[in-house]
Amino acid sequence: MKKIPQYLAGEFVQSQTQNWIDLTNPATNEVIAKVPCATPEEMRLAIDKAGEMFQSWKETPVSERARVMLRYQALLKEHHDEIAEILSQETGKTFDDAKGDVWRGIEVVEHAANVASMMMGETVENVAREVDTHSWIQPLGVCAGITPFNFPAMIPLWMFPMAIACGNTFILKPSEQDPMTPMRLAELFEQAGAPKGVLQVVHGGKEQVDVLLTDPAVKAISFVGSVPVGRYIYETGTSHMKRVQSFAGAKNHMVIMPDADKQQVINALVGASVGAAGQRCMAISVAVFVGAAQEWIPELKDAMAKVRPGAWNDSGASYGPVISPKAKERVEALIATGEAQGATLLLDGRNCTVDGLPDGNWVGPTLFSNVTADMDVYKEEIFGPVLTCMNADDLGEAIKLINESPYGNGTSIFTNHGGAARRFQHEIEVGQVGINVPIPVPLPFFSFTGWKGSFYGDQHAYGKQAVRFYTETKTVTSRWFSSEATSSEANFSIQL
Ligand code: NAD
Repeated sequence: MKKIPQYLAGEFVQSQTQNWIDLTNPATNEVIAKVPCATPEEMRLAIDKAGEMFQSWKETPVSERARVMLRYQALLKEHHDEIAEILSQETGKTFDDAKGDVWRGIEVVEHAANVASMMMGETVENVAREVDTHSWIQPLGVCAGITPFNFPAMIPLWMFPMAIACGNTFILKPSEQDPMTPMRLAELFEQAGAPKGVLQVVHGGKEQVDVLLTDPAVKAISFVGSVPVGRYIYETGTSHMKRVQSFAGAKNHMVIMPDADKQQVINALVGASVGAAGQRCMAISVAVFVGAAQEWIPELKDAMAKVRPGAWNDSGASYGPVISPKAKERVEALIATGEAQGATLLLDGRNCTVDGLPDGNWVGPTLFSNVTADMDVYKEEIFGPVLTCMNADDLGEAIKLINESPYGNGTSIFTNHGGAARRFQHEIEVGQVGINVPIPVPLPFFSFTGWKGSFYGDQHAYGKQAVRFYTETKTVTSRWFSSEATSSEANFSIQL
Protein backbone atom coordinates (compact mmCIF):
# COMPACT_ATOMS: atom_id res chain seq x y z
CA MET A 1 0.00 0.00 0.00
CA LYS A 2 1.31 3.41 -1.02
CA LYS A 3 2.19 5.61 1.94
CA ILE A 4 2.06 9.37 1.43
CA PRO A 5 5.35 11.03 2.45
CA GLN A 6 5.73 14.34 4.26
CA TYR A 7 7.95 17.16 3.02
CA LEU A 8 10.17 17.93 5.99
CA ALA A 9 13.36 19.98 6.08
CA GLY A 10 13.58 19.71 2.30
CA GLU A 11 13.19 15.92 2.03
CA PHE A 12 10.22 13.80 1.02
CA VAL A 13 10.26 11.32 3.90
CA GLN A 14 8.04 8.62 5.37
CA SER A 15 6.54 9.38 8.75
CA GLN A 16 7.52 7.35 11.82
CA THR A 17 3.93 7.48 13.10
CA GLN A 18 1.81 4.49 14.08
CA ASN A 19 -1.29 6.49 13.19
CA TRP A 20 -2.40 6.28 9.54
CA ILE A 21 -5.61 7.42 7.80
CA ASP A 22 -7.04 5.60 4.76
CA LEU A 23 -7.17 7.66 1.57
CA THR A 24 -9.99 6.43 -0.66
CA ASN A 25 -11.11 6.96 -4.23
CA PRO A 26 -14.63 8.42 -3.79
CA ALA A 27 -15.86 6.77 -7.01
CA THR A 28 -15.07 3.26 -5.72
CA ASN A 29 -14.22 3.63 -2.01
CA GLU A 30 -11.07 1.58 -2.59
CA VAL A 31 -8.19 2.54 -0.33
CA ILE A 32 -5.55 4.05 -2.62
CA ALA A 33 -2.99 5.18 -0.04
CA LYS A 34 -2.30 5.72 3.65
CA VAL A 35 -1.93 9.22 5.08
CA PRO A 36 0.28 9.68 8.14
CA CYS A 37 -0.57 11.76 11.20
CA ALA A 38 2.70 13.60 11.86
CA THR A 39 4.39 12.77 15.18
CA PRO A 40 5.19 15.57 17.68
CA GLU A 41 8.89 15.23 16.67
CA GLU A 42 8.02 15.68 13.00
CA MET A 43 5.92 18.76 13.78
CA ARG A 44 8.85 20.16 15.81
CA LEU A 45 11.25 19.52 12.94
CA ALA A 46 8.94 21.30 10.47
CA ILE A 47 8.59 24.37 12.68
CA ASP A 48 12.29 24.55 13.63
CA LYS A 49 13.43 24.15 10.03
CA ALA A 50 10.94 26.77 8.85
CA GLY A 51 12.28 29.17 11.49
CA GLU A 52 15.87 28.49 10.48
CA MET A 53 15.18 28.88 6.76
CA PHE A 54 13.36 32.16 7.33
CA GLN A 55 16.69 33.76 8.31
CA SER A 56 18.14 33.22 4.82
CA TRP A 57 14.95 33.34 2.72
CA LYS A 58 13.99 36.81 4.01
CA GLU A 59 17.41 38.06 2.81
CA THR A 60 16.88 36.61 -0.67
CA PRO A 61 16.24 39.53 -3.07
CA VAL A 62 12.61 40.00 -3.97
CA SER A 63 13.34 39.57 -7.68
CA GLU A 64 14.91 36.15 -6.98
CA ARG A 65 11.84 35.14 -4.98
CA ALA A 66 9.66 36.31 -7.87
CA ARG A 67 11.71 34.24 -10.33
CA VAL A 68 10.99 31.08 -8.33
CA MET A 69 7.30 31.86 -8.87
CA LEU A 70 7.84 32.39 -12.60
CA ARG A 71 9.55 29.02 -12.94
CA TYR A 72 6.88 27.41 -10.75
CA GLN A 73 4.10 28.82 -12.92
CA ALA A 74 5.75 27.35 -16.03
CA LEU A 75 6.19 23.94 -14.36
CA LEU A 76 2.59 23.85 -13.15
CA LYS A 77 1.42 24.62 -16.69
CA GLU A 78 3.66 21.91 -18.10
CA HIS A 79 2.26 19.38 -15.59
CA HIS A 80 -1.31 20.70 -15.65
CA ASP A 81 -2.95 17.49 -16.98
CA GLU A 82 -0.88 15.22 -14.78
CA ILE A 83 -1.78 17.16 -11.59
CA ALA A 84 -5.44 17.21 -12.65
CA GLU A 85 -5.42 13.45 -13.07
CA ILE A 86 -4.07 12.92 -9.53
CA LEU A 87 -6.65 15.41 -8.28
CA SER A 88 -9.50 13.61 -10.08
CA GLN A 89 -8.53 10.28 -8.60
CA GLU A 90 -8.53 11.44 -5.01
CA THR A 91 -11.51 13.84 -5.18
CA GLY A 92 -13.63 12.22 -7.89
CA LYS A 93 -13.85 15.55 -9.78
CA THR A 94 -14.34 15.32 -13.54
CA PHE A 95 -11.10 15.86 -15.43
CA ASP A 96 -12.21 19.26 -16.83
CA ASP A 97 -13.22 20.47 -13.40
CA ALA A 98 -9.95 19.19 -11.91
CA LYS A 99 -8.06 21.15 -14.56
CA GLY A 100 -10.02 24.24 -13.50
CA ASP A 101 -9.02 23.65 -9.87
CA VAL A 102 -5.33 23.58 -10.89
CA TRP A 103 -5.71 26.56 -13.23
CA ARG A 104 -7.20 28.84 -10.59
CA GLY A 105 -4.13 28.05 -8.48
CA ILE A 106 -1.71 28.71 -11.35
CA GLU A 107 -3.23 32.19 -11.67
CA VAL A 108 -2.33 32.91 -8.04
CA VAL A 109 1.27 31.84 -8.71
CA GLU A 110 1.35 34.25 -11.67
CA HIS A 111 0.14 36.97 -9.34
CA ALA A 112 2.74 36.06 -6.70
CA ALA A 113 5.43 36.70 -9.31
CA ASN A 114 4.42 40.40 -9.15
CA VAL A 115 5.30 40.54 -5.49
CA ALA A 116 7.88 43.33 -5.74
CA SER A 117 5.38 45.96 -6.81
CA MET A 118 2.98 44.84 -4.07
CA MET A 119 5.69 45.18 -1.41
CA MET A 120 6.43 48.80 -2.16
CA GLY A 121 6.19 51.02 0.88
CA GLU A 122 5.38 54.73 1.10
CA THR A 123 7.61 57.78 1.43
CA VAL A 124 7.11 61.40 2.40
CA GLU A 125 10.00 63.84 2.26
CA ASN A 126 10.22 66.72 4.76
CA VAL A 127 7.74 65.50 7.35
CA ALA A 128 9.61 67.98 9.54
CA ARG A 129 12.65 70.14 8.84
CA GLU A 130 15.31 67.77 7.37
CA VAL A 131 13.24 64.77 8.39
CA ASP A 132 11.91 62.11 5.96
CA THR A 133 9.65 59.13 6.59
CA HIS A 134 9.41 55.94 4.60
CA SER A 135 7.87 52.54 5.21
CA TRP A 136 9.22 49.07 4.51
CA ILE A 137 7.08 45.97 4.03
CA GLN A 138 8.79 43.04 5.77
CA PRO A 139 7.83 39.34 6.03
CA LEU A 140 6.48 37.90 9.29
CA GLY A 141 8.41 34.64 9.68
CA VAL A 142 6.91 31.14 9.80
CA CYS A 143 3.36 31.01 8.40
CA ALA A 144 1.07 27.97 8.27
CA GLY A 145 -1.90 26.91 6.16
CA ILE A 146 -4.67 24.39 6.83
CA THR A 147 -6.72 23.51 3.76
CA PRO A 148 -10.01 21.72 2.98
CA PHE A 149 -10.68 18.77 0.68
CA ASN A 150 -12.70 20.54 -1.98
CA PHE A 151 -9.93 22.40 -3.87
CA PRO A 152 -6.69 20.51 -3.16
CA ALA A 153 -4.72 22.48 -5.78
CA MET A 154 -6.28 25.94 -5.78
CA ILE A 155 -6.51 26.54 -2.03
CA PRO A 156 -2.95 25.51 -1.06
CA LEU A 157 -1.88 27.73 -3.99
CA TRP A 158 -3.91 30.64 -2.56
CA MET A 159 -1.57 30.45 0.41
CA PHE A 160 2.04 29.30 0.13
CA PRO A 161 3.09 31.11 -3.10
CA MET A 162 1.89 34.46 -1.73
CA ALA A 163 3.40 33.92 1.72
CA ILE A 164 6.73 32.67 0.36
CA ALA A 165 6.99 35.35 -2.34
CA CYS A 166 6.67 37.89 0.51
CA GLY A 167 9.76 36.34 2.15
CA ASN A 168 8.13 34.02 4.70
CA THR A 169 8.55 30.29 5.14
CA PHE A 170 5.45 28.11 5.13
CA ILE A 171 4.09 24.89 6.66
CA LEU A 172 1.11 23.39 4.84
CA LYS A 173 -1.27 20.91 6.52
CA PRO A 174 -3.50 19.82 3.63
CA SER A 175 -6.78 17.95 3.96
CA GLU A 176 -6.23 14.33 4.96
CA GLN A 177 -8.93 13.46 2.40
CA ASP A 178 -6.84 14.40 -0.66
CA PRO A 179 -3.16 15.07 0.14
CA MET A 180 -1.65 13.60 -3.06
CA THR A 181 -2.32 16.74 -5.10
CA PRO A 182 -0.64 19.13 -2.62
CA MET A 183 2.35 16.73 -2.39
CA ARG A 184 2.78 16.95 -6.17
CA LEU A 185 2.55 20.75 -5.90
CA ALA A 186 5.36 20.62 -3.31
CA GLU A 187 7.58 18.45 -5.54
CA LEU A 188 7.21 20.89 -8.42
CA PHE A 189 7.90 23.84 -6.10
CA GLU A 190 11.25 22.32 -5.19
CA GLN A 191 11.92 21.64 -8.88
CA ALA A 192 11.20 25.33 -9.56
CA GLY A 193 14.19 26.21 -7.39
CA ALA A 194 12.61 26.94 -4.03
CA PRO A 195 15.32 26.32 -1.41
CA LYS A 196 14.76 23.24 0.76
CA GLY A 197 12.84 24.05 3.93
CA VAL A 198 11.09 27.16 2.63
CA LEU A 199 7.94 25.06 2.16
CA GLN A 200 7.10 22.04 4.28
CA VAL A 201 4.08 19.75 4.18
CA VAL A 202 2.87 17.81 7.22
CA HIS A 203 -0.21 15.58 7.42
CA GLY A 204 -2.85 14.80 10.00
CA GLY A 205 -5.89 16.38 11.65
CA LYS A 206 -6.75 18.34 14.80
CA GLU A 207 -3.74 17.20 16.82
CA GLN A 208 -1.28 18.46 14.19
CA VAL A 209 -3.27 21.65 13.58
CA ASP A 210 -3.23 22.39 17.31
CA VAL A 211 0.57 22.37 17.29
CA LEU A 212 0.57 25.01 14.55
CA LEU A 213 -2.08 27.08 16.36
CA THR A 214 -0.22 27.19 19.65
CA ASP A 215 3.52 27.14 18.84
CA PRO A 216 4.96 30.64 19.41
CA ALA A 217 7.27 30.30 16.40
CA VAL A 218 4.29 30.29 14.00
CA LYS A 219 3.30 33.90 13.31
CA ALA A 220 0.27 33.59 11.02
CA ILE A 221 -2.37 31.00 10.19
CA SER A 222 -4.41 30.76 6.99
CA PHE A 223 -7.38 28.39 7.18
CA VAL A 224 -10.10 27.31 4.75
CA GLY A 225 -12.78 24.83 5.80
CA SER A 226 -16.05 24.38 7.65
CA VAL A 227 -17.69 26.85 10.05
CA PRO A 228 -17.11 25.08 13.40
CA VAL A 229 -13.45 24.40 12.60
CA GLY A 230 -13.02 27.91 11.15
CA ARG A 231 -14.27 29.49 14.36
CA TYR A 232 -12.06 27.23 16.46
CA ILE A 233 -9.01 28.11 14.36
CA TYR A 234 -9.70 31.85 14.62
CA GLU A 235 -10.34 31.78 18.36
CA THR A 236 -7.40 29.52 19.20
CA GLY A 237 -4.92 31.17 16.84
CA THR A 238 -5.73 34.72 17.93
CA SER A 239 -5.72 33.75 21.62
CA HIS A 240 -2.13 32.60 20.98
CA MET A 241 -1.44 36.09 19.57
CA LYS A 242 -1.21 35.01 15.92
CA ARG A 243 -2.53 36.66 12.85
CA VAL A 244 -5.38 34.52 11.51
CA GLN A 245 -7.44 34.56 8.32
CA SER A 246 -10.15 31.90 8.47
CA PHE A 247 -12.40 31.19 5.48
CA ALA A 248 -15.45 29.14 6.42
CA GLY A 249 -18.70 27.70 5.09
CA ALA A 250 -21.32 29.34 2.95
CA LYS A 251 -24.86 29.41 1.67
CA ASN A 252 -24.96 31.35 -1.58
CA HIS A 253 -28.16 32.79 -3.06
CA MET A 254 -28.90 33.64 -6.68
CA VAL A 255 -31.73 36.12 -7.23
CA ILE A 256 -33.70 35.68 -10.45
CA MET A 257 -35.62 38.73 -11.65
CA PRO A 258 -38.50 38.15 -14.08
CA ASP A 259 -36.78 40.35 -16.72
CA ALA A 260 -33.70 38.06 -16.85
CA ASP A 261 -32.92 35.81 -19.81
CA LYS A 262 -34.62 32.51 -18.92
CA GLN A 263 -32.20 30.19 -20.68
CA GLN A 264 -29.16 31.93 -19.18
CA VAL A 265 -30.74 31.59 -15.74
CA ILE A 266 -31.42 27.87 -16.14
CA ASN A 267 -27.93 27.12 -17.48
CA ALA A 268 -26.33 29.15 -14.69
CA LEU A 269 -28.40 27.53 -11.95
CA VAL A 270 -27.76 23.97 -13.08
CA GLY A 271 -23.98 24.43 -13.45
CA ALA A 272 -23.50 26.49 -10.29
CA SER A 273 -25.56 24.20 -8.04
CA VAL A 274 -24.47 20.70 -9.04
CA GLY A 275 -21.00 21.39 -10.52
CA ALA A 276 -18.32 19.61 -8.42
CA ALA A 277 -21.26 17.78 -6.77
CA GLY A 278 -22.13 21.06 -5.03
CA GLN A 279 -18.89 20.88 -3.03
CA ARG A 280 -17.80 24.45 -3.72
CA CYS A 281 -17.87 27.20 -1.14
CA MET A 282 -19.20 29.46 -3.91
CA ALA A 283 -21.80 26.97 -5.22
CA ILE A 284 -25.28 28.38 -5.62
CA SER A 285 -27.45 26.45 -3.16
CA VAL A 286 -30.44 28.81 -2.97
CA ALA A 287 -32.36 30.17 -5.98
CA VAL A 288 -34.62 33.09 -5.06
CA PHE A 289 -37.25 33.56 -7.77
CA VAL A 290 -38.80 37.01 -7.79
CA GLY A 291 -42.44 37.35 -8.93
CA ALA A 292 -43.24 35.76 -12.31
CA ALA A 293 -39.77 34.16 -12.56
CA GLN A 294 -41.21 31.37 -10.36
CA GLU A 295 -42.90 30.01 -13.49
CA TRP A 296 -39.48 28.83 -14.75
CA ILE A 297 -39.05 26.20 -12.03
CA PRO A 298 -40.56 23.32 -14.12
CA GLU A 299 -38.08 24.03 -16.93
CA LEU A 300 -35.26 24.18 -14.40
CA LYS A 301 -36.35 20.77 -13.17
CA ASP A 302 -36.29 19.34 -16.71
CA ALA A 303 -32.78 20.70 -17.29
CA MET A 304 -31.47 19.36 -13.95
CA ALA A 305 -33.04 15.95 -14.56
CA LYS A 306 -30.79 15.50 -17.63
CA VAL A 307 -27.61 15.93 -15.59
CA ARG A 308 -25.83 12.85 -14.25
CA PRO A 309 -22.77 12.17 -12.14
CA GLY A 310 -20.05 9.78 -13.23
CA ALA A 311 -16.39 8.79 -13.18
CA TRP A 312 -13.69 11.44 -13.58
CA ASN A 313 -12.79 10.25 -17.09
CA ASP A 314 -16.39 9.84 -18.31
CA SER A 315 -16.80 12.76 -20.71
CA GLY A 316 -20.60 12.55 -20.42
CA ALA A 317 -20.61 13.07 -16.65
CA SER A 318 -21.34 16.56 -15.33
CA TYR A 319 -19.84 15.96 -11.91
CA GLY A 320 -18.35 13.26 -9.71
CA PRO A 321 -19.15 11.62 -6.37
CA VAL A 322 -19.19 13.43 -3.03
CA ILE A 323 -15.98 13.03 -1.07
CA SER A 324 -16.91 10.23 1.41
CA PRO A 325 -19.67 7.84 2.47
CA LYS A 326 -20.13 10.07 5.53
CA ALA A 327 -20.68 13.13 3.30
CA LYS A 328 -23.19 11.17 1.19
CA GLU A 329 -25.05 10.05 4.31
CA ARG A 330 -25.21 13.63 5.58
CA VAL A 331 -26.52 15.01 2.25
CA GLU A 332 -29.15 12.26 2.02
CA ALA A 333 -30.24 12.86 5.61
CA LEU A 334 -30.72 16.57 4.85
CA ILE A 335 -32.81 15.70 1.78
CA ALA A 336 -35.04 13.55 4.02
CA THR A 337 -35.31 16.42 6.52
CA GLY A 338 -36.31 18.82 3.74
CA GLU A 339 -39.14 16.54 2.72
CA ALA A 340 -40.23 16.00 6.33
CA GLN A 341 -40.25 19.74 7.00
CA GLY A 342 -42.61 20.39 4.09
CA ALA A 343 -40.46 21.47 1.12
CA THR A 344 -41.53 20.10 -2.28
CA LEU A 345 -38.99 17.55 -3.52
CA LEU A 346 -39.04 17.93 -7.32
CA LEU A 347 -35.93 15.82 -8.00
CA ASP A 348 -34.57 13.30 -5.51
CA GLY A 349 -30.89 12.43 -5.82
CA ARG A 350 -30.92 9.72 -3.17
CA ASN A 351 -30.22 6.11 -4.16
CA CYS A 352 -28.29 7.29 -7.20
CA THR A 353 -26.27 4.63 -9.05
CA VAL A 354 -23.58 4.82 -11.70
CA ASP A 355 -23.02 1.87 -14.05
CA GLY A 356 -19.87 -0.07 -13.27
CA LEU A 357 -19.18 1.88 -10.04
CA PRO A 358 -21.61 0.44 -7.50
CA ASP A 359 -19.65 1.55 -4.42
CA GLY A 360 -19.12 5.25 -5.22
CA ASN A 361 -20.52 8.11 -3.13
CA TRP A 362 -23.07 9.14 -5.75
CA VAL A 363 -25.80 11.70 -5.16
CA GLY A 364 -28.04 12.66 -8.08
CA PRO A 365 -29.14 16.23 -8.82
CA THR A 366 -31.72 17.25 -6.22
CA LEU A 367 -34.22 20.09 -6.46
CA PHE A 368 -36.56 21.46 -3.81
CA SER A 369 -39.18 24.17 -4.25
CA ASN A 370 -41.35 25.99 -1.69
CA VAL A 371 -38.44 26.17 0.73
CA THR A 372 -38.75 28.60 3.64
CA ALA A 373 -36.10 30.20 5.85
CA ASP A 374 -36.94 28.07 8.90
CA MET A 375 -36.13 24.74 7.16
CA ASP A 376 -32.86 22.89 7.73
CA VAL A 377 -32.23 22.59 3.97
CA TYR A 378 -32.06 26.39 3.97
CA LYS A 379 -30.16 26.91 7.22
CA GLU A 380 -27.49 24.20 6.80
CA GLU A 381 -24.66 24.22 4.27
CA ILE A 382 -25.56 20.96 2.45
CA PHE A 383 -22.34 20.72 0.36
CA GLY A 384 -23.99 18.36 -2.12
CA PRO A 385 -25.74 18.66 -5.53
CA VAL A 386 -28.90 20.10 -3.98
CA LEU A 387 -30.63 23.31 -5.08
CA THR A 388 -33.38 24.83 -2.95
CA CYS A 389 -35.85 27.25 -4.56
CA MET A 390 -37.51 30.05 -2.64
CA ASN A 391 -39.96 32.74 -3.70
CA ALA A 392 -39.91 36.49 -3.13
CA ASP A 393 -42.52 39.08 -4.13
CA ASP A 394 -39.95 41.73 -5.01
CA LEU A 395 -36.25 42.53 -5.00
CA GLY A 396 -36.44 44.15 -1.56
CA GLU A 397 -37.73 40.91 -0.04
CA ALA A 398 -34.93 38.92 -1.74
CA ILE A 399 -32.26 41.33 -0.45
CA LYS A 400 -33.70 41.15 3.08
CA LEU A 401 -33.60 37.34 3.02
CA ILE A 402 -29.93 37.31 1.94
CA ASN A 403 -28.91 40.01 4.40
CA GLU A 404 -30.46 38.01 7.24
CA SER A 405 -28.39 34.93 6.36
CA PRO A 406 -25.46 34.39 8.75
CA TYR A 407 -23.23 33.66 5.73
CA GLY A 408 -21.80 36.17 3.27
CA ASN A 409 -19.46 34.41 0.86
CA GLY A 410 -21.06 34.92 -2.56
CA THR A 411 -24.32 35.89 -4.21
CA SER A 412 -25.59 36.83 -7.65
CA ILE A 413 -28.48 38.46 -9.43
CA PHE A 414 -29.73 37.69 -12.93
CA THR A 415 -31.53 40.66 -14.46
CA ASN A 416 -31.59 42.92 -17.50
CA HIS A 417 -32.47 45.95 -15.37
CA GLY A 418 -29.48 48.15 -14.54
CA GLY A 419 -31.29 49.81 -11.64
CA ALA A 420 -32.11 46.47 -10.01
CA ALA A 421 -28.53 45.28 -10.45
CA ARG A 422 -27.15 48.48 -8.98
CA ARG A 423 -29.48 48.39 -5.99
CA PHE A 424 -28.52 44.76 -5.38
CA GLN A 425 -24.76 45.34 -5.53
CA HIS A 426 -25.06 48.33 -3.23
CA GLU A 427 -27.40 46.96 -0.57
CA ILE A 428 -26.38 43.32 -0.37
CA GLU A 429 -24.33 42.32 2.70
CA VAL A 430 -22.20 39.70 0.97
CA GLY A 431 -18.54 39.96 0.02
CA GLN A 432 -18.57 38.65 -3.57
CA VAL A 433 -21.37 39.70 -5.89
CA GLY A 434 -22.15 38.52 -9.42
CA ILE A 435 -24.37 40.35 -11.89
CA ASN A 436 -25.44 37.80 -14.51
CA VAL A 437 -22.41 35.81 -13.27
CA PRO A 438 -23.42 32.88 -11.03
CA ILE A 439 -20.09 32.17 -9.27
CA PRO A 440 -18.26 35.49 -8.94
CA VAL A 441 -14.86 34.32 -7.69
CA PRO A 442 -12.45 37.25 -8.10
CA LEU A 443 -9.20 36.68 -10.01
CA PRO A 444 -5.98 36.89 -7.98
CA PHE A 445 -5.25 40.60 -8.57
CA PHE A 446 -8.38 41.21 -6.46
CA SER A 447 -8.90 39.30 -3.19
CA PHE A 448 -11.29 36.53 -2.16
CA THR A 449 -13.56 38.60 0.03
CA GLY A 450 -16.18 36.53 1.90
CA TRP A 451 -18.07 38.34 4.70
CA LYS A 452 -20.00 37.59 7.89
CA GLY A 453 -19.97 33.93 9.05
CA SER A 454 -18.06 32.89 5.91
CA PHE A 455 -14.88 34.64 7.04
CA TYR A 456 -13.19 35.40 10.35
CA GLY A 457 -10.35 37.88 10.15
CA ASP A 458 -9.71 41.07 8.23
CA GLN A 459 -7.18 40.58 5.43
CA HIS A 460 -8.45 38.17 2.77
CA ALA A 461 -6.77 35.62 0.47
CA TYR A 462 -4.54 36.60 -2.47
CA GLY A 463 -4.34 40.05 -4.09
CA LYS A 464 -2.93 43.00 -2.16
CA GLN A 465 -4.73 41.88 0.99
CA ALA A 466 -2.67 38.66 1.12
CA VAL A 467 0.52 40.73 0.97
CA ARG A 468 -0.74 42.79 3.91
CA PHE A 469 -1.67 39.62 5.78
CA TYR A 470 1.75 38.00 5.33
CA THR A 471 3.82 41.14 6.09
CA GLU A 472 4.47 43.81 8.67
CA THR A 473 4.94 47.49 7.93
CA LYS A 474 7.97 49.19 9.42
CA THR A 475 7.99 52.98 9.32
CA VAL A 476 11.38 54.69 9.42
CA THR A 477 11.81 58.37 10.26
CA SER A 478 15.28 59.77 9.55
CA ARG A 479 17.02 63.09 9.95
CA TRP A 480 20.20 63.82 8.06
CA PHE A 481 21.62 67.20 9.06
CA SER A 482 22.72 69.43 6.22
CA SER A 483 26.08 71.13 6.71
CA GLU A 484 24.45 74.53 7.41
CA ALA A 485 22.08 73.19 10.02
CA THR A 486 22.69 74.05 13.63
CA SER A 487 22.88 71.01 15.84
CA SER A 488 19.63 70.39 17.70
CA GLU A 489 19.26 70.86 21.38
CA ALA A 490 17.57 68.52 23.79
CA ASN A 491 13.79 68.71 23.61
CA PHE A 492 11.50 67.83 26.46
CA SER A 493 8.12 68.34 24.86
CA ILE A 494 6.51 67.13 21.65
CA GLN A 495 7.43 69.44 18.77
CA LEU A 496 4.49 71.38 17.30
P1 NAD B 1 -13.08 20.81 7.49
O1 NAD B 1 -13.34 21.99 8.34
O2 NAD B 1 -13.63 19.51 7.91
O3 NAD B 1 -11.51 20.57 7.31
C1 NAD B 1 -10.65 21.62 6.89
C2 NAD B 1 -9.26 21.39 7.46
O4 NAD B 1 -9.31 21.48 8.89
C3 NAD B 1 -8.66 20.03 7.12
O5 NAD B 1 -7.29 20.20 6.82
C4 NAD B 1 -8.87 19.23 8.41
O6 NAD B 1 -7.87 18.25 8.61
C5 NAD B 1 -8.77 20.29 9.48
N1 NAD B 1 -9.59 19.98 10.66
C6 NAD B 1 -10.73 19.24 10.69
N2 NAD B 1 -11.23 19.22 11.95
C7 NAD B 1 -10.41 19.96 12.71
C8 NAD B 1 -10.40 20.33 14.10
N3 NAD B 1 -11.37 19.91 14.92
N4 NAD B 1 -9.42 21.11 14.53
C9 NAD B 1 -8.45 21.55 13.71
N5 NAD B 1 -8.40 21.24 12.39
C10 NAD B 1 -9.37 20.45 11.90
O7 NAD B 1 -13.59 21.21 6.01
P2 NAD B 1 -13.71 20.29 4.72
O8 NAD B 1 -14.88 19.38 4.88
O9 NAD B 1 -12.40 19.74 4.33
O10 NAD B 1 -14.08 21.41 3.62
C11 NAD B 1 -15.38 21.81 3.31
C12 NAD B 1 -15.72 23.14 3.97
O11 NAD B 1 -14.82 24.14 3.54
C13 NAD B 1 -17.09 23.66 3.56
O12 NAD B 1 -17.74 24.16 4.70
C14 NAD B 1 -16.79 24.79 2.60
O13 NAD B 1 -17.76 25.81 2.50
C15 NAD B 1 -15.52 25.31 3.17
N6 NAD B 1 -14.79 26.09 2.20
C16 NAD B 1 -14.78 27.44 2.34
C17 NAD B 1 -14.11 28.22 1.41
C18 NAD B 1 -14.11 29.72 1.54
O14 NAD B 1 -13.31 30.34 0.85
N7 NAD B 1 -14.91 30.32 2.38
C19 NAD B 1 -13.45 27.62 0.33
C20 NAD B 1 -13.47 26.23 0.24
C21 NAD B 1 -14.14 25.47 1.19
